[in-house]
Formats: sequence, structure tokens, C-alpha cells
Amino acid sequence: MDPRHAVLFEPIRIGPKTLPNRFYQVPHASGFGVTEPRSQAAFRAIKAEGGWGGVCVEYAPVTADSEETPAIAATFWDDEDAAALSLVVDAVHGHGSLVGLELFHGGSSSENGKSRAVRVAPSQATAELQWAGLAKEMDLDDIARIRRAWVDAALRARDTGFDIVYVYGAHGYLLTQFFSPASNLRTDGYGGSLAGRGRFWLETLEAVRTAVGADCAIASRIPVHGGSGLPGIEVDDMLQLVALADDLVDLLDVNVGSWPEDSGTSRYFPEGHQRRWTDLVRAATKKPIVGVGRYTSPDLMADVVRSGALDIIGAARPAIADPFLPRKIADGRLAEIRECTGSNVCIAREESFRHVGCIQNATAGEEYRRGWHPEVFPAAANAGQSVLVVGAGPAGMECAVVLGKRGFAVHLVDAGAAIGGRLGWIRQLPTLGDWGRILDWRSVQLASLAEVEVITGRRLDVASVLDYGAEIVVVATGSHWRDDGVQPHGGAQIAGADGDLPWVLTPEQVMVGGKRPAGSRVVVYDADGYFVGPGIAELLADEGRQVDLVTCYPVVSPDSDPTLEGDLLRRHLHAKGIRAHRGVTITSMSAEGVSGQDEFDRPWSAPADGVVLVTQQRSDDALYHALRAAADGLAEAGIHAVYRIGDAVAPRAISEAIFDGHRLAREIDQPDPAQPLPYLRERTRR
Ligand code: ADP
Repeated sequence: MDPRHAVLFEPIRIGPKTLPNRFYQVPHASGFGVTEPRSQAAFRAIKAEGGWGGVCVEYAPVTADSEETPAIAATFWDDEDAAALSLVVDAVHGHGSLVGLELFHGGSSSENGKSRAVRVAPSQATAELQWAGLAKEMDLDDIARIRRAWVDAALRARDTGFDIVYVYGAHGYLLTQFFSPASNLRTDGYGGSLAGRGRFWLETLEAVRTAVGADCAIASRIPVHGGSGLPGIEVDDMLQLVALADDLVDLLDVNVGSWPEDSGTSRYFPEGHQRRWTDLVRAATKKPIVGVGRYTSPDLMADVVRSGALDIIGAARPAIADPFLPRKIADGRLAEIRECTGSNVCIAREESFRHVGCIQNATAGEEYRRGWHPEVFPAAANAGQSVLVVGAGPAGMECAVVLGKRGFAVHLVDAGAAIGGRLGWIRQLPTLGDWGRILDWRSVQLASLAEVEVITGRRLDVASVLDYGAEIVVVATGSHWRDDGVQPHGGAQIAGADGDLPWVLTPEQVMVGGKRPAGSRVVVYDADGYFVGPGIAELLADEGRQVDLVTCYPVVSPDSDPTLEGDLLRRHLHAKGIRAHRGVTITSMSAEGVSGQDEFDRPWSAPADGVVLVTQQRSDDALYHALRAAADGLAEAGIHAVYRIGDAVAPRAISEAIFDGHRLAREIDQPDPAQPLPYLRERTRR
């Protein structure tokens, strides 16, 4: 270990417990809750195995009027819930780490989709995550009932073996609603003054501490500053509240703002962006502080701890991307750290009620159901066979890395001058530089694998594949954006669209070919709805062009909403002078501009010197189909199998292309590797 990083491995006392080092996986959603307890346990345990000294389960509602369906939370109401989470406790303890439970109440942000309970809140005021309908103003019986439920849940958590129990007061939920004068309009002793607004929190902390404080560390998660998402949460107030709670908490888990700011993506927030506010907490408390900041740099983490601003490095996303981050720092294997890209694909999955996944780490969430370990790659039964992977985009790179680790001799061949496929240009889009980490980590891995040879600048056709001398061929030739104006969702083909014309451009023509329109007025037509259209629009605006971003969707980039980026992205584009036109379908184009119709079928047109078509993609699958058709040639060449992965199968998100490449390599010694093995499903047995 580099001695500069030793400070990260010093134990620290939190209340009655000792955290073995300064790495702490803060509570974050997994999509497993208590209904998939084995998946939950395996997902958390891998982090303990990877060296995180503290590992927490996600938000755990304490009552049925804080019920999150359709979202998935770890409800902690009864002994069956406790029995489910006892698997996590045992699994994390098995690796010597502390395990925490984030006891929670959502207040007016509770969905209550299943319980149909009335929402409760300090006042009948809207909250950040307001679902349909207002909440009941809590009466004193509600206040006593929820406090009691919190204590009962804490006792249950202690009896289940949890080391750390939370009184969760961040992210706009019940306790934040009490703190903020924007949502707490009460005139009794639980509102008004700062002491009044903090009273429910302080009383609950005290009650939980009295019940379990001798056995468990009491943690509280609070926003230090509300930012634009949490109106009424002011830093001076929060620091005073911290001081008032100093004898009641053992660990302060501090963050900033609402979720989009706290889990800020790399596009708009740098590593450690919360420090402006969280550094202020030190002066208000004697207790250990944990905070997040999408930290992946060991030097920066060590600096933060040495500065005293934080005692413990908290992480959600960096721990998903690399559960073994602490171990790699301890071993001095810094180049092996799989750095979080800050893309929030994990959050987008969870926000759409799927279990956690990761663009960087294909094994995230697959620990139990597929038995995948991020660092362990069993030797393949057929590892003696040589493999040719054609195409070194995300899918091909991932597949080659895993095959190499499983003992295969692999040649990874790409037509381009460098590996990376679409990542080579995506990382050049404004704000998307950190997505280059997907390519960087795989480049380092490929270079370190003696079994894998990387060959660039060579385009393979059927004859050269047959001649190559490999026994297994994996086609990972990707996809490209269409230049003929075929729109997704059954939209009509755009008349006049033809990528050979000087005024018609595709993303790849702009980014790889350097094609530009003759004049300064550009329309970017985004029928894709994620990052490519806005990215190209910003790039062209930065070059001094006047850009109209036209989208068929009701909002610009709807797919940026589940990643928490939508509002930020739209503001960002607006600030760059890009004009947005929503709900418009373009149906024809010419050298003069575009025309089509708006959402009410009224004619719509705009002049333009060039149009970038971000419409639909098409798989580059010709090589695959030609190889499959050449059965005799394959047999003669000694090729046993031809597989296809990534966008060459179907154009998809980068995370899915990587998953696809990973899965094939994991299962390449199965009877039919082309078809995924069934995965384990957790069922309630009667
Ligand atoms: P994916 O996301 O599925 O990995 P990409 O489109 O990002 O797909 O990458 C595909 C890669 O395959 C590109 O780098 C491209 O240069 C390469 N490629 C495509 N066809 C061939 C071929 N016939 N021979 C070698 N490389 C190819």
C-alpha cells in the first residue's frame, strides 16, 4: 500500500462499534428489498468482501403509511422482514464489516401504492417527491406513533444483528419535511422555530438511543444544505441542529440537496462537489462524519480524511462500480480500480423498478442469481480453444477481458485505429468525458492480460475470419446511426434524408468523419431521447453554430430523467443558447431546412443549413450472417462456433452491450452459450 493511503485503513470508533477502516457503503436502493433476500445479501456481502468496513441496506420504512410500492424498499415492519435481512447481517459479518439499516419514513413523499394508507406529513404542503394527493397533517398521536414505530424497528434491527441503525432525515423525506419551513407550517411545538422544526428528529434520536444505544451505533443522514431541490433547508439551521444532536448521534451521514444534486452525475458535478457545504459540519460536531462525493481517487479520499472534513469516505455508486475498491487501494493495485462513470445507470434501473445494475460492472446485482463475482473468473472447460473477437467496442472489449481471465487465448481485432468502438466518440461529447472510464478500465485490463492480443486497424471479412485460425468466433461489430431518416416508434421515413448529401449528417459522420454543414444554422433532430442528440447539439453550439434541437418527445431527452439529469440537462442546453422544440415530428428535409408537424398535427418548419439525424440505429450484422451462412467454410477452417454480442445483435444502451459480452464469456463453456442460462429466482414458498 502507498503510505499516503494508510489513513484510509485506520479503524474508527462509532458509538459502541468500531468501523475497521474508513470505507463505508452508504445506504442506497438495490431493488431487492426484503422480497429477494438472497440477492440482497449477496449484493451487500460482495462489498464487505471487497473491503468496505461498513455496508448498509437501503431505506427501510418503519410503518405502513410509508410504503413505497411500486418502488422497492426494505420494509422493516415485522419478524419476517427481519428474518429476510438477517441474511444480509450474517453475510456482511462474515467478512468482518459492520452492517447498517436505514430506518426511514417518507412522510408526504410516501407512495403507499400497496398499503393505501393515507400519507402523513408535518403539514398539508407539497413535498419534493409529491405523488397524487396531499398528506394528512400529523396530529400528536401520529407523531408519537411514528416515533414508537422507529424505536420498535430499531429494537428489531438490533435483535437481527445490525450494528448501525439510522434515523434517516435527508432527501426530502419526513424529517426533512419537518426541518423545512417550506413544508412545516405547524404552529404547535413541532414547527415554527428551529428547535420546533428539529424537535421530532431530536426526540426520535433520543428514543432510539435510549432503546438500542448501548448495542448499536446511531446514525443520522441529513442534508447540510438544501440547494434548489429542498427549499427551506439552510446551512446555518442545519449546523445548529447538528450541534443540538451531538450527544444523540454516533455517526453523521451528511449530504447536500435533493437526490439529483446529491447523486450528481459526472456530466454536471465533479468528484467531491458536496464539500463546499459538508466541510462546514466539522465545526459543529465532535462525532464522526461520513459523506459521499463519487470518490474514486485514493489520493483525494486520503486528503479528505486527513483534512478532518470527513472521517469516513461514503460511497454508493463507486462501490457498485467496484466493490473491491478498498482492497485494490490496500494492495496498491490502483490501475485496477473500476471507476464509477457517474452515468447514473444504476439509479435509472432502480427508478424504473428493476434491480440495481451498472454500466461499468456487469456483475452488479448478479451475485446471487447468476453467481457472478466481480473478481473471480473460473477457468473455462474449453479454455484450450482459441477465440477471435471481431470488434472492440464495449461488448467486444468486455467479452475479451472476461475470456482472457477465464484462460482463453484471445485475439481482439478492430477495424479502427484504436479500440473503444462508439466510446471513442461518445467521450468527446461535451460533459461526457468521464464515460471514457469505461474504455480506460478495459484498455488497462486488456494490456495486462498476457492471453489477449489486441489488433487495431484491421477490418475482417468472411475470408479473413476463416483464415484467421481461431476455433471460436465472437462477432461484436456494433451498429451505426441510420442516415435515411427511418424513425423509431413506427414513425414515417423522412423524405429527402440521405447521408450522402452534404446537408444531411449522422452522429458518426459528425463525430468520427468530421462532417459539418456548409452554413451556421443546424437542426439536430432527436428521436432517440437520451444523450446523443443533446451532446451533438451542444458540441455544434460550442463551435459557434446556431442550433435548434427538435425532438418528437414531449420533453427534451426523456431518458435523462431516470438518471436524475433531465432538469439539469435542459437548463444546461438552454444556457448554451440551444433552442428546444418539443413534440415535433420531422417528415421531410431539403437543403433549405426541415418540415413536419407538431403534436396537434399543425405544420411545423424551420430553416437549416444542415440536419443531424439522431433517429434510429442499425446493427452491423453482415459479417455475422455471412459467417453463419458459410457452414462448410467454418467446418473446414476448424471454427466450432460463431456467436454475436452487443449492438451487432440489436442496438442497445452501453450497459446492455457490456452485459451481453460479459454473459457470453461467463457461459461460453455451457452447452448452448448463445442462449443465457436461466437465473435463480427467489419465491415465497408456502
Ligand atoms: P458494441 O457497443 O456492440 O460493442 P460498437 O459499435 O461500439 O459496438 O463497436 C463495434 C466495433 O466493431 C467498432 O469499433 C468497429 O470498428 C468494429 N468493427 C465493425 N466491423 C468490423 C470488422 N468487420 N472487422 C473489425 N472490426 C469491426
